[in-house]
Amino acid sequence: MAFIAPAGTPLSMRDIALAIAVATRMRPGQEQLVQTLRQLSGHGFVWSLSSGRAAMTLLLRAMYVAAGNPDRTQIIIPAYTCYSVPAAVERAGLEVRLCDVDPGTLGMDPDELLRCDFSRVLAVISANLYGVPNDLAAYETICRSKGVYLLDDAAQALGARLGNRAVGSFGDAGIFSFDKGKIISTMQGGAIVCAEGRLATALGSSIAQLPDSSLAEQLLILGQLVGYSIFLHPSRYGLIRHLPFIGLGRTEYQLRYPITILSALQTNIAGNLLLRLEDLNSARRENARKLFEALQDLPGLHLIRPLPDSHAVYARFPCRIASPEIRARVIEAMHASGIGATASYPRSLADVPEVGSRLPAGDLAYPGATELAATILTLPTHAYCPDDLGSQASRIFRKCAD
Ligand SMILES: *Cc1c(COP(=O)(O)O)cnc(C)c1O
Repeated sequence: MAFIAPAGTPLSMRDIALAIAVATRMRPGQEQLVQTLRQLSGHGFVWSLSSGRAAMTLLLRAMYVAAGNPDRTQIIIPAYTCYSVPAAVERAGLEVRLCDVDPGTLGMDPDELLRCDFSRVLAVISANLYGVPNDLAAYETICRSKGVYLLDDAAQALGARLGNRAVGSFGDAGIFSFDKGKIISTMQGGAIVCAEGRLATALGSSIAQLPDSSLAEQLLILGQLVGYSIFLHPSRYGLIRHLPFIGLGRTEYQLRYPITILSALQTNIAGNLLLRLEDLNSARRENARKLFEALQDLPGLHLIRPLPDSHAVYARFPCRIASPEIRARVIEAMHASGIGATASYPRSLADVPEVGSRLPAGDLAYPGATELAATILTLPTHAYCPDDLGSQASRIFRKCAD
């Protein structure tokens, strides 16, 4: 039966063949990748790495070095975001502090951020979940006034903008991810964009020491990419969606991941995909627009309105269903109709044992994040979505809400 994957990027055999054609250490795509991300972000420095969390780990370590203050070990992150974020903080040897999110916007409320104790904070990390920009200009102002770094996490928001600035370009540095469910995919992969200065210098010297990946690792990725390009299509995704390693939207807390530069193979694919970034995102935005239209005014369903003057790119289409019971029924009915709806990350980070157990005693109340985890629903937006996805989804909501 056809099944629309929760998220993804259609890859053609040409995208992959181009990468096979080059010798394993040649990176003709590097220039394209660096130029595109430099232009997009306005930051002078771009590095491509083995994953978004590898990028984040290196960036946080470099922030610690560049700040030159051993007491500043805390990183403020949204209480609802990808579990890879607190894992990267731990892997960097730093401490997580949470800031609650507003379920209506999905981001940290700037007033809530202002109430945090900044005395030992090194950096704040944004989230921009599902490609919807957070209130980044406000975060930037707060971080400047407190003298801490802002790391703009654009893992799900490559190509999104707030005002005339790219998401990922706010603050001192940003990261992007090229994982399976993100805006562009090389199976795994990520990049850092960073402003000139002490931070870029610290980062540059740590990245210069990283290993390159082996030929065997590249061949494994190549095999995965071929599988991904074949099986993401709805006519085939249904065959593989239950396999344990598929993981389009991983939710585990994982500390063991490689930290290397992005392989030549993946760099070339990323460089090529970045040429199509606008097309990929227009298709997602158009699908999101149709979903908005079909789903507005349904009782019990809250749509997320992006901030005024923002350009969201919709890695997925987020909405909230007031009743968790109805949400469970909707997801089940969507799956039965072959639509990859998801409940996204299942918990507030305060309720993830690896994070909650390390928070200061009693620091566990994040009502916004708890509510968001219980009510969020995401729908697919990628290029393989059918034209009538909105009417299908609307019919399912009405049926399940009865
Ligand atoms: C996916 C993701 C990351 C980590 O990126 P990987 O490439 O999967 O390591 C970080 N932050 C957010 C918000 C993400 O969605």
